[in-house]
Amino acid sequence: MLTINIITLFPELIEPYLERLPFSRAIEKGALEVNLIQLKNYAIDERGTVDGRPYGGGVGMLLRIEPVWQALESVYGAFDNPEKIQADLENTIIGLTPSGKTFTQKKAQELSKKSTITLICGRYEGMDARIKQHLTTENISIGNYVLSGGEIPALAIMEAVVRLLPEAIEKEEATLLESFSQGLDQKKEYPQFTRPETYKGLAVPEVLLSGHHEKIKKWQKDQINS
Ligand code: SAM
Repeated sequence: MLTINIITLFPELIEPYLERLPFSRAIEKGALEVNLIQLKNYAIDERGTVDGRPYGGGVGMLLRIEPVWQALESVYGAFDNPEKIQADLENTIIGLTPSGKTFTQKKAQELSKKSTITLICGRYEGMDARIKQHLTTENISIGNYVLSGGEIPALAIMEAVVRLLPEAIEKEEATLLESFSQGLDQKKEYPQFTRPETYKGLAVPEVLLSGHHEKIKKWQKDQINS
């Protein structure tokens, strides 16, 4: 059973996806629980403040450390020393940031074996660096570009992870032989075709219609190596 906690200012962006595959099946089968944690619930005042201006100047606002700390306490219990929470190998607390380590299929496989993952979604100009330095166990980027918030990165990571849970997809073997999987030596998938055999002069490679299992396997292998 995998529990994913998402600390966000916009849980409503994530909610609809949970009603669709692969999330819905994994939740229904009891293999996945997703907790959406509204950061505003841990605001520093009654006006709902969760952000502040950067020291030293700069455009935009940063998420403050106090609301994020308290949101984490709602998951892990009260803590005074963030080093303890980082040192506990059971904890996987991921800060979503363009400056993090680039997400890969290998990372998705690693995360799919965890029991609890907490994702912290930034917004505005990002988050106070102390969050990324002291409250997370790792910081992840989904690529070298900048989005407005961590919700789409959180969904991308969650979907890559959840579809690797055996309960989440109908045919488990589908994830064993796909791009970046161990089954394909972490390489990109070979081209695949379906009916019709020819469309407007565009033909399916003949070898795939030959019924010759060995030749087909060799062709597929040659394709991923080319
Ligand atoms: N000032 C930050 C910088 O230059 O790196 C960008 C902040 S971005 C506008 C706001 C939030 O969106 C970030 O804190 C992060 O949570 C999320 N975000 C944007 N792009 C991302 C990416 N490529 N990977 C992961 N998170 C991203």
